[in-house]
Amino acid sequence: MKKMLAIMLLMSLMTVSCNKDGTATTTDDPTQTTIEPTTDGSGDTTDPTTDDTADVPAPIPPSTSTLPALALSFKTNVLLYNLTASQEDKYNDAVALVKKVVGTEAFRKAVLNHTYNGSKLYANNNGLTNSQIYQSILDAAEKLTPAKNNTLDVGVKFYYTNNSVVGYTNGSITYINVNTKFFNNYDINEVAGNLFHEWLHKLGYGHDSSATARRPYSVPYAIGYMIRNLGKNFL
Ligand SMILES: [Zn+2]
Repeated sequence: MKKMLAIMLLMSLMTVSCNKDGTATTTDDPTQTTIEPTTDGSGDTTDPTTDDTADVPAPIPPSTSTLPALALSFKTNVLLYNLTASQEDKYNDAVALVKKVVGTEAFRKAVLNHTYNGSKLYANNNGLTNSQIYQSILDAAEKLTPAKNNTLDVGVKFYYTNNSVVGYTNGSITYINVNTKFFNNYDINEVAGNLFHEWLHKLGYGHDSSATARRPYSVPYAIGYMIRNLGKNFL
């Protein structure tokens, strides 16, 4: 008991010595006689230990604290098949950028507040609300690897064709095909947007194959653009 009291007294002195307020060291002195903790009522607000902790600033929560934990823990597992070393470097930068954007409040808000024809929804939404679509992104359960592992799992194969197709995939393969015609000239955020667009197909979202008026409001197009546009802020 005596030893404990000595430790507490020492702690009290240490805390006081950390106080920036120079007067505290002298005015706190008398409280050391009332430091006996067990005999005091627990609700005693004059308890010196509570006085000391009141001077410690409360930790400021990070600005992303309203985000679901799954947004901050979102992971990527991207298998690069036939890229050169420099292509890999560039593509990995895009993958890292996707992870950064998904971990932002701005991305959450953009996905949740998307509107199509004046309503908060997406075209080609598979019958899901914006909130359910956001959750499906965080769950990241690809149709071919349906575990909810909070991880963007996809492979990437490069090809070259001199046409207007940036990339493509289909429901029976775990990878996406990326046209180097566009990749070579794309900024990192544009590569990230394309990766996310193609990956959203892996989650089962589709869009019109022709350039219809509603196609930009489909899940792959609309959210791919969000990744691209928000990603620009990180470059
Ligand atoms: Zn597509």
